[in-house]
Amino acid sequence: MTDLLPRPPRLSVSRVAAALTRQRLQKLEHLLILAPENLSPAQWRKLPSGTQLKDLQKRIGSKSAIPAAQTRLNNSKRTGISLGLLPVGVSPFKRLDRIRLLLGHAMKSNPGTLGALITGFDDSDATASAEAVTVAALAAVSEMPSHKSKPSPAPRLRALQLFGDGKPQLRRLRAENEGNHLARWLTTLPPNDLDSASYKKRIAALAKQHGWEMSFLDRKRLARLKAGAFLAVAQGGDSNAGIVHLRYRPPDASKKRPDVALVGKGICFDTGGVNLKPAQHMQNMHDDMQGSAVALGTLTALSRVNSKLNVDCWLAITENLIGPGAYKPMDVVTASNGTTIEIIHTDAEGRMALADTLALAAEKKPAVIIDYATLTGACVGAVTERYSGAFSNRQSLNPYLIKAGDQSGERVWPFPMDDDFDTALNSSIADIKQCTLDGIGDHILAARFLSRFAGSGAWVHIDLSSGRHKGGLAHIPTDVTGFGVRFTMNLLHEQELLKHSLANR
Ligand SMILES: [Zn+2]
Repeated sequence: MTDLLPRPPRLSVSRVAAALTRQRLQKLEHLLILAPENLSPAQWRKLPSGTQLKDLQKRIGSKSAIPAAQTRLNNSKRTGISLGLLPVGVSPFKRLDRIRLLLGHAMKSNPGTLGALITGFDDSDATASAEAVTVAALAAVSEMPSHKSKPSPAPRLRALQLFGDGKPQLRRLRAENEGNHLARWLTTLPPNDLDSASYKKRIAALAKQHGWEMSFLDRKRLARLKAGAFLAVAQGGDSNAGIVHLRYRPPDASKKRPDVALVGKGICFDTGGVNLKPAQHMQNMHDDMQGSAVALGTLTALSRVNSKLNVDCWLAITENLIGPGAYKPMDVVTASNGTTIEIIHTDAEGRMALADTLALAAEKKPAVIIDYATLTGACVGAVTERYSGAFSNRQSLNPYLIKAGDQSGERVWPFPMDDDFDTALNSSIADIKQCTLDGIGDHILAARFLSRFAGSGAWVHIDLSSGRHKGGLAHIPTDVTGFGVRFTMNLLHEQELLKHSLANR
């Protein structure tokens, strides 16, 4: 068994206001230099080993090479230098992506101390670059679960010193990394290590750590609440299934009502159920709880920055198994809000588990609900694993969703939510069909289905098509990306989602 929770990375990050002198440089095992592509000759000369780096860069020829040039100083530590040049006007995503690759290159020599010199940018680009190095380094040293009998040694990196320009918000970045790390770590656990019972234990440990109130609605309680949609999935054989409700309140919270409800799909393993998945499609189906892990990670980050928001978090935790009690196509079940659902395909279990969870979240009347789910293959088909899909019952929120994705480097793209899509879900025997069999536009139909349970307040649904991307994405070096924590922090803080949600009630 692994630890109950991930161990925090042992990396100190500090901003050094003083200049990067020869003495300070000698104490570093590696230095990253980050500068814009259009450096002037005078700026080149000011860089450590600047003339040499410029010659080397010319020899390589391409400014976009990673690194654009590299050298090693003739000092006692043989300090390595890697130069990264960023195009002027580079997007936040590309900045994070290139800095991850540059850092990955530097990490090959396994330095214990790393410096980053940020120079030649305007103020906002300098800050963005300092922040990108910080999050890339934190993500790189955040340990993932290992089940090797002889685990490979952890990276030596213990200190990152930021020199030059930029004013990174280190506390916020640490909080976001903690949330992202948690999401990636939980999602990476094998399904026999993260079943519903063990997941609940781990969440209880987190709740204790952060002072969240926690309640667990088990199958019995959910039966009393008539949560027939969730239970249809759980009855396949997961006796430990249930819905977790967490509450974060700032110390001086005067009102009880939640501002934000975070909702996550937590299918600890998805066999497909009676409509059993073929072997190839069952690979990585332990990932199907990533939505719940991202909701937990976001709650963690909000707690760490002492958010002033009242936040509820609802997690739909169950496996989708095949067993004598499993639900079947053509079953009709009733969700807790009274909606009757005609079952079409048991592998569309995510929307079933989320239906009741959203309905419970909506009952508390939060200003906005945000849900996360690895929900549909159709969303991957539409935007690939580079973007996630965004959906809302308030079209006016779409520009803020795009902007949060752009600025955080966790990119989303909104899809249409017109109600005539519902025609495809008309059922002759129930209120709504669960899905269609042809799968056309399934990401949109799934969102339309969920909208029936999300209440009348503002609601944002994120279909996590970029929850897994081979080789990493943006600053994240692992296949599992934990996508959504940074996006949501930006959405709530920089984009002021709450204000816009209330304006459109
Ligand atoms: Zn499924």
